[in-house]
Amino acid sequence: MSEIIEPLRGMNDVLPDEARWWHRLERVVREVFAAYGYREIRVPLLERTALFKRAIGEYTDIVEKEMFSFDDRDGASLTLRPEATASIVRAAITNGLLHNQRHRLFTLGPMFRGERPQKGRYRQFHQVDVEALGYGGPDVDAELILMSARIWRLLGIGRVSLELNSLGTPEARAGYREVLRGYFAAHESTLDADSRRRLGGNPLRILDSKNPDLAGLIAAAPLLTDSLDPASREHFDGLRARLDAAGVAYTVNPRLVRGLDYYSRTVFEWVTDALGSQNALCSGGRYDGLVEQLGGEPTPAIGWALGMDRVVLLMQELGTPAPAEPPQAYVVLAGAAAAARGLGLAEQLRDALPWLRIETDLGGGSFKAQFRRADRSGALIAVVLGEDELARDVAAIKPLRHDGEQLDCPFADLPACLARLLGGPSVDAAAAARQDRDP
Ligand code: AMP
Repeated sequence: MSEIIEPLRGMNDVLPDEARWWHRLERVVREVFAAYGYREIRVPLLERTALFKRAIGEYTDIVEKEMFSFDDRDGASLTLRPEATASIVRAAITNGLLHNQRHRLFTLGPMFRGERPQKGRYRQFHQVDVEALGYGGPDVDAELILMSARIWRLLGIGRVSLELNSLGTPEARAGYREVLRGYFAAHESTLDADSRRRLGGNPLRILDSKNPDLAGLIAAAPLLTDSLDPASREHFDGLRARLDAAGVAYTVNPRLVRGLDYYSRTVFEWVTDALGSQNALCSGGRYDGLVEQLGGEPTPAIGWALGMDRVVLLMQELGTPAPAEPPQAYVVLAGAAAAARGLGLAEQLRDALPWLRIETDLGGGSFKAQFRRADRSGALIAVVLGEDELARDVAAIKPLRHDGEQLDCPFADLPACLARLLGGPSVDAAAAARQDRDP
């Protein structure tokens, strides 16, 4: 036997038994985006490294140590996207979407960061990402937060809480940066190597440090809230008033600065106490300067990203049901003639009943072995075709989950028979529904 090739650390397989929680999450977020008029955009997984360096910031953990970057054959540096905002803004600019237009967009997909893997933190992880481009007021900030709150409600997820902060304008932040630089410079001997480097680059990033030795120093640092400019304060008050009116609870956390450089004004994070240290579920903020920074016209914008892997973990932790969808019927075939007929018969049933989930036994074997597989599939009934049935132009229908009678059903009546037994829409209703859906 050949040696097994192990998967990469922090890159997970989602096995079929687990996929149903992902499906439920994906279904709910798509329903919510449709209900608020957000439209899907799909962007590449690979972009030029310069895009993320310029958007996320040179002195961030992501750019300094987490990106999966490599040179292509022509020597251009490329990076697997660590987040979606930069790519969506790039796409809006390069496709000319921002000429006198506003867009409310979403995307779903994998992101890549070379972090140290642990429960809830992976190297390939998945985000639902929302971006509203061209909206400057606090109303859209509130709408984005309401949308995330609705997602938790529809998923039946409790144990989440919302933290809010305002980072002010870049000018106010520049003032604060100098205040911080002064503060940390006075304690330079206590800083670690990372933080000392950031002291010269961007001292705000020192606040993101996860080094426990620095926790006390960071806790005592001056607050950004005290340097906030009046317009940002008004914006923040406007957001809070809207959240209060809509009945969304939050706490203001003046220490919430977020690990990316492009944010301005509103930042927020949904956290949970049910997942241990990886407690952030959905994080976002306003980035009014980013479009211009990436070469577009000045355009206010805001977005959030929800960590799907963590939300799936939380759904499982909290016992949120995610229905499995086993086949409703299982086709058992005995003998060569029946085997030849089986796949065609299942096709006819799927044509007549688009809602039907019907699995055909493949590979043959004894009746007993096939019934064992039928039973394991979770199907409610078996549709049995043997030589005797074929000779009489009927299929036998055998209940698998209760003790009802086996009955014979003529081929021509099979769709109606299955619709009756399985409680699905009748043949005519099913055809009409399909006509509506796929005209
Ligand atoms: P960020 O893009 O860093 O603001 O992260 C947005 C959300 O993505 C976080 O709230 C997490 O839920 C999720 N997330 C970020 N990094 C990871 C990771 N390495 N593994 C799993 N989820 C992550």
